[in-house]
Amino acid sequence: MSQAQLMDGTGLARRIVDETAKRAADLTERTGVAPCLATVLVGEDPASVTYVRMKQNRSRKAGIESRHVALSAGTTTAELIGTLTGLSADPTVHGILLQHPMGHHIDERAAFEAIAPEKDVDGVTLASFSAMSFGLPGFASCTPGGIMRLLDEYDVDPAGKRAVVVGRSAILGKPVGMLLLGRDATVTYCHSRTADLSAVVREADIVVAAVGRPRLIRGEDIKPGAVVVDAGYNPGNIGDVDFDSARERASLITPVPGGVGPMTIATLLAQTVEAATRQTGA
Ligand code: NAP
Repeated sequence: MSQAQLMDGTGLARRIVDETAKRAADLTERTGVAPCLATVLVGEDPASVTYVRMKQNRSRKAGIESRHVALSAGTTTAELIGTLTGLSADPTVHGILLQHPMGHHIDERAAFEAIAPEKDVDGVTLASFSAMSFGLPGFASCTPGGIMRLLDEYDVDPAGKRAVVVGRSAILGKPVGMLLLGRDATVTYCHSRTADLSAVVREADIVVAAVGRPRLIRGEDIKPGAVVVDAGYNPGNIGDVDFDSARERASLITPVPGGVGPMTIATLLAQTVEAATRQTGA
């Protein structure tokens, strides 16, 4: 079998960001309001600082204003909730991104729930998850939303396909499975307690790897012709799929980096402009 075609997340994300920048400029011209994304960071974890800075830079390039709230590592859940409630009520802020993970002393769920659903452009609230699962208007969790957009771009129709999602986190595995289900795939979730992961993956027409374990998914377990989406991002730019061997059997595969990663930020920016458009009634 010939090598799989690469799903180019970098190129698609660039086009989405360009389109988003045009929509942002158009909104500002019509209403005088520039879309604004508030980023909230608790503490100074270097990876989180980098992620937030990257999101701010990309926002700026797309004509989205960013407002950063840096809170000390000792911030309590109640204080964080106070900040998020304030931003939720502030009419000049259209989207809110709470960078996670936060410190262990913070009740993350309680903090996420302080984000108004109409500003939840990162798709982290229970309201967003339910709306997405029911196919109702709302904002998708960004990485899952980006994965679906990537599948659409490459004409992968999940209907009737067996999709195996490896990982069940609240921000990635669970929501991507719900989106695939919403598109009529037959979805199986795998996790750390799954017995015989290889046997389950071998059945898949679409594999989504969202684990955080370098090269856990081996090429020998990929069904010939399957579509492989690797959301994993491990130190050294290594995905959760053994790319070289999987590429020999898949029909389409995302590279790491350059596959799913860029789609996450593109989705965040697109959803921020969408939120601003809805909130200004434009
Ligand atoms: P997470 O919260 O740590 O969840 C990992 C999931 O994998 C859990 O459901 C866990 O099962 C499961 N798992 C762990 N070991 C396993 C094993 N040996 N076999 C099968 N399942 C196993 O991670 P996450 O936040 O979802 O992130 C997953 C990966 O995606 C990471 O590499 C992360 O860096 C990457 N990521 C990328 C983006 C992006 O923009 N590209 C965004 C977010 C995350 P249990 O539930 O049983 O513990």
